Amino acid sequence: MPGPRSLRDLPSVDRLLADERLADEPHDLVLGAARSVLERAREEIRVGREPSPLVDAVLEELARGRRPSLRRVLNATGVLVHTNLGRAPLADAALARVAEVGSGYSNLEYDLERGQRGSRQDHLRSLLRRLTGAEAALVVNNNAAAVLLALAALAEGREVVVSRGELIEIGDGFRIPDVLARSGARLVEVGTTNRTRASDYERAIGPETAILLRVHQSNFRVVGFSEQPRLDELAELARKHDVPLVDDLGSGALAAVGDETTPAESLRAGADLVCFSGDKLLGGPQAGIVVGRTKLVERLRRHPLQRALRADKLTLAALEGTLSLALSPETRDRIPVLRMLHEPVEQVRARAERLAELVGGEVEETVARVGGGALPLAELQSAACAVEEELAEPLRLGNPPVIAVVRDGRTLLDCRALSDDEVDEVAAAVAAARQ
Ligand SMILES: *Cc1c(COP(=O)(O)O)cnc(C)c1O
Repeated sequence: MPGPRSLRDLPSVDRLLADERLADEPHDLVLGAARSVLERAREEIRVGREPSPLVDAVLEELARGRRPSLRRVLNATGVLVHTNLGRAPLADAALARVAEVGSGYSNLEYDLERGQRGSRQDHLRSLLRRLTGAEAALVVNNNAAAVLLALAALAEGREVVVSRGELIEIGDGFRIPDVLARSGARLVEVGTTNRTRASDYERAIGPETAILLRVHQSNFRVVGFSEQPRLDELAELARKHDVPLVDDLGSGALAAVGDETTPAESLRAGADLVCFSGDKLLGGPQAGIVVGRTKLVERLRRHPLQRALRADKLTLAALEGTLSLALSPETRDRIPVLRMLHEPVEQVRARAERLAELVGGEVEETVARVGGGALPLAELQSAACAVEEELAEPLRLGNPPVIAVVRDGRTLLDCRALSDDEVDEVAAAVAAARQ
């Protein structure tokens, strides 16, 4: 059935609703959809375009209204920890823990042995201690919250010494100087953008100094004429002056990945408190993890902000599931981010070849990235299937949406962050986008 061509061809709302294909739809929903479809059709005819068939448009409008807003997408960008796309996909074991804990009641704050009130912070302590060698651990909503809580609990009204080379913005306006100001601590900047020495820190330490803060440079690097003191040098200085050293690691890979410092290494080098994210290279849910000395962790736990920043039970369940896999090298690669990171390029290329065969595209060598502020310079060899540039938008608007990269007049479907099963879904999405 062709669409209407002139305003006179447009039916009334009632006549449109009388179509038998709309008969089973709830009246109030279909009425709203019909009105907005007719409104759009009028607009299109006025500007000389031909609207699409009206009943189809009403059905499409109804389907759109029923679709959840937060949806699964297929990540064909080649960025593994993509903050806009929800960072780390969860491991099956983590999802199973979420389903188990979320579908019923749980011992979230109940001590089963003693039959009395317990703490939600008890559940992950021993796993985190085994994984990092720390004395104590605490989990909050995200790493920004972990840094804020550490600064508020340890340095409110006092001074925090930070290198000018580490006064970073992580993205979306999370700036270390602003977080510091919010915590009520005073920033004391030392060194320069490219060079800071231990002696710069030492000169800044005084009676008002509450902590030395080291911040992972996250999503940028200073290359060339640059210098930052080693962590063990800073730790020695901190001990000499009896001030705690806090290390914001950002990503926090539990096992060595590139040159990322692990939380265990940071603690061994002498950091007193280490903060890191749950959903970057750790590969779990959004969370902020603090590990370190019992005395300091306790100060964070007792601070009033802790109650506002704590993680919920679903997060704790997913994190416990993820950390259990991280314990052993045999199970570590069941964490999707780590599997994708370590997968040999031949396997990625095999996926790109299969996709190219299914959709008639071309295989192209690409460079994938870790993302999430970890290893900004690391280039992961990868492979993509290149298709027509015009497909990028319909792919993004499809169901499920496919997010790709447009480069040099083509749409690249990078296969490093896609699973084997998802290749078939992407192929179906490309076919649908071409129609
Ligand atoms: C990512 C990052 C944060 C913020 O962590 P979220 O988990 O996103 O809140 C803080 N510090 C550094 C160095 C980071 O890389």
